[in-house]
Amino acid sequence: MAIIEAHQIRKSYGNLEVLHDVDLSVREGEILGLIGPSGSGKSTLLRILDLIEPPNSGKLSIFGIDTVKDHGRWLDLRRRMGMLFQRPIVFNASVYDNVAMGLRYRGTSRDDIDRKVKEALEAVGLSRYVKSRATDLSGGEQQRVALSRVLVTDPEILFLDEPTANLDPTSTATIEAIVTRLNREANMTVVISTHDLAQGQRLAHRVGVMIEGMIAQTGASREIFHEPKDRRIARFVGVQNIIPGRVVSRSDGLAVVEARGKQILSATPTPGEEVDMVIRGEDISLHRREPGFEEAENLFPATVTTIEPTAPFVNVTVHCGCDLAALVTARRAETLGLHDGMQVWVSIQAKAVHLIPRVQSG
Ligand code: ADP
Repeated sequence: MAIIEAHQIRKSYGNLEVLHDVDLSVREGEILGLIGPSGSGKSTLLRILDLIEPPNSGKLSIFGIDTVKDHGRWLDLRRRMGMLFQRPIVFNASVYDNVAMGLRYRGTSRDDIDRKVKEALEAVGLSRYVKSRATDLSGGEQQRVALSRVLVTDPEILFLDEPTANLDPTSTATIEAIVTRLNREANMTVVISTHDLAQGQRLAHRVGVMIEGMIAQTGASREIFHEPKDRRIARFVGVQNIIPGRVVSRSDGLAVVEARGKQILSATPTPGEEVDMVIRGEDISLHRREPGFEEAENLFPATVTTIEPTAPFVNVTVHCGCDLAALVTARRAETLGLHDGMQVWVSIQAKAVHLIPRVQSG
């Protein structure tokens, strides 16, 4: 069931339209990752979903309530949701008082506050700091205080806006573990924005890619990584090869795509004749000698043109009519004894050649 349903959301600041016709549906109990480059509108969308600010137009229903028509219910709705921001907001007071604050506003009894604050601090592993001054804690600990301040109010939906962007890897892992547990054990619905693809992949059941104020694609992270719908998404998810080509024939689920005189087989759906081949660098294998032929595999000789170490991998560009960028492990590069001008064999599985419609760049 959809717990949030956003339709054609638009938002402008002055003359700048930041969100254009955003459609998004969040299912109850899921972790949805909003990934996208900085400035693509992720924070703005989260603020709108959390009812911190209104959209200029569009429909937004939360818990089945139409937030546009039922403006009078915003406070009620906001109390069922919580947001954690990129920079931890803590006050110069004890950790206990920081966490208790939201409950005091709601007029909760002292005994209940005491119990809930202790539970929330336990959930983020900060029980021993209950009396410490929040501002004396490390950045990662402050973020956990901020998170327990949100959790103490038992939100049904938790929004996290780049929650670990300023944190070290250990604090990041701690926050991620807490979020996963809350989702699993309390069935909390989570929407997390991140520019960190790997984080989206680790945490989210489903990912929405935001590009230039629009949700460009939603799906399982595997799908987004291997089957990006267009060039912008392909670039954002780090695809090294986007090669214009033309489908020259098709049979038995295999398309032959011609690019600069080279024919490459694709075993993915064909969106038309003029296409871009999207091939991840790690799906291109290099060999010293001609390997055995496997069905539906592309296999051809090529010349190494550049070798660029980007530890722990090496980016190797080979020329075979068109240029292809392969990503190999440093160990593999050493075993192959790669050097400029070297002749190698290239193999690519036909199912690793994803096709998208070619859009003429203006
Ligand atoms: P992201 O979270 O993906 O980095 P944001 O939602 O923060 O993106 O920002 C999207 C765009 O909206 C940016 O160009 C940003 O400068 C602009 N923007 C965000 N908030 C405001 C605001 N309150 N006033 C003016 N411009 C804003």
